[in-house]
Amino acid sequence: MNVRDSEAMAGLLAQLGYAATDDPAEADVIILNTCTVREGAEDRAYGRLGELRALKRRRPGLLLGVAGCLVQQERERVLARAPWLDLVFGVHNIHRLPELLREARDGCMPVYEVWDRSDRDRPLSVLPAHRTGGVRGFVNIIHGCNKFCTFCIVPYVRGRERSVPPADVVAEVRGLAAQGVREVTLLGQNVDSYGHDLTPRRDLAALLELVHEVDGIERLRFTTSHPRDMTRRLIATVARLPKVCEHIHLPVQAGDDEILRRMHRAYTASQYRETADAVRAEMPRASLTTDIIVGFPGETEEAFERTLRFVEDVRFDAVNTAMYSPREGTPAAAYPDQVADEDKRRRLAALNRMQERIAAEINTALIGATQDVLVEEPGRKGGMLGRTRTNKIVTFDGAADLIGRTVPVEIVEAGSWVLRGRRAAYAAGRQPA
Ligand code: SAM
Ligand code: SF4
Repeated sequence: MNVRDSEAMAGLLAQLGYAATDDPAEADVIILNTCTVREGAEDRAYGRLGELRALKRRRPGLLLGVAGCLVQQERERVLARAPWLDLVFGVHNIHRLPELLREARDGCMPVYEVWDRSDRDRPLSVLPAHRTGGVRGFVNIIHGCNKFCTFCIVPYVRGRERSVPPADVVAEVRGLAAQGVREVTLLGQNVDSYGHDLTPRRDLAALLELVHEVDGIERLRFTTSHPRDMTRRLIATVARLPKVCEHIHLPVQAGDDEILRRMHRAYTASQYRETADAVRAEMPRASLTTDIIVGFPGETEEAFERTLRFVEDVRFDAVNTAMYSPREGTPAAAYPDQVADEDKRRRLAALNRMQERIAAEINTALIGATQDVLVEEPGRKGGMLGRTRTNKIVTFDGAADLIGRTVPVEIVEAGSWVLRGRRAAYAAGRQPA
């Protein structure tokens, strides 16, 4: 979602006549778009601001700004810690960038504007976007979150849920298709809640049907889903619509019921399991990925063992793992039974070890199979890089004229994250999906 916000900022800058550069030393304006979901991201942002200070000393005309969730959380503290900044603005102020930049350029004081999340009646402005011309595009369909999981800062910095009207979503997807985008991901913190705040009420399944009609788009994805809100109707829609890829990202966070309760996730491990089973019953080849936090307050060795057993049992294709990071202002940060860092690190390593083995086993089973790969860009070590419908990254020998095309690739090698393949032919009568 931050990538999408950065695209909007880049689009506004392009409208003002700025051109993009990869070299910070050459830039007239640098805006750091920040994340605050874990402390590590926050530390990195401040570290980077320190580095950019040196650049500003060498080039006093450089305008240095910071935006994003860190600002929303830290407010004036950002300016107190980095007083060399020219511009500080929040996640609800992105559309004001042209005015704020002008003020920063013309004035002699840092410009600071952070609107509060409770500004919920303000219409969602449809911002221009500067896309990098890639094969994949991202479209926000719902902003904010109403869930208030006890570990999570998102509802505090991004505000309450606001759905983007379906007509705006479709218009943005059409625009992307016209720019050559082939795969669109519909974004939200909780896309399964899409539309409950619209009149008439809508849901994600209905939105997928609409977006499915846009010519030129070959593949549709959506993220992130919430286990409590994922409906059988949505699963059936994903299975039925050919462009919607059979990959479900469904964060479970923990496999222990007591931890899930303390996280306020509003489901049990077995309820999650039922949803996962329903996905696999409808789409036997679907990939299922998840997020897991280790070391949430009160997580005992037994509770962690239950999470490990759950991971072994469900067999996810991939797991984004993280150590619990206390976020100031969230309930869990004040829980008395915080887990020691060394226990968190040990649990993270054990979970990662187990998941690497499982992912390698799942991926190894694909060796010899031919997959439809949508080619995205040159691979880092040569050849081309693309993705299967199940969202697995595949590298193979090929030339740049394949970018944007879907080609059959036979998998010849498999690791836990990346598959290696070679160009293959379709069996007679079979065309790319
Ligand atoms: N809305 C999605 C959901 O409900 O799962 C995820 C949104 S969150 C921005 C992305 C991931 O960051 C979460 O799934 C969680 O695993 C991780 N995360 C969020 N807060 C965290 C914290 N305080 N410490 C560690 N990981 C955290
Ligand atoms: Fe955070 Fe996701 Fe929970 Fe919302 S549903 S509070 S974004 S973890």
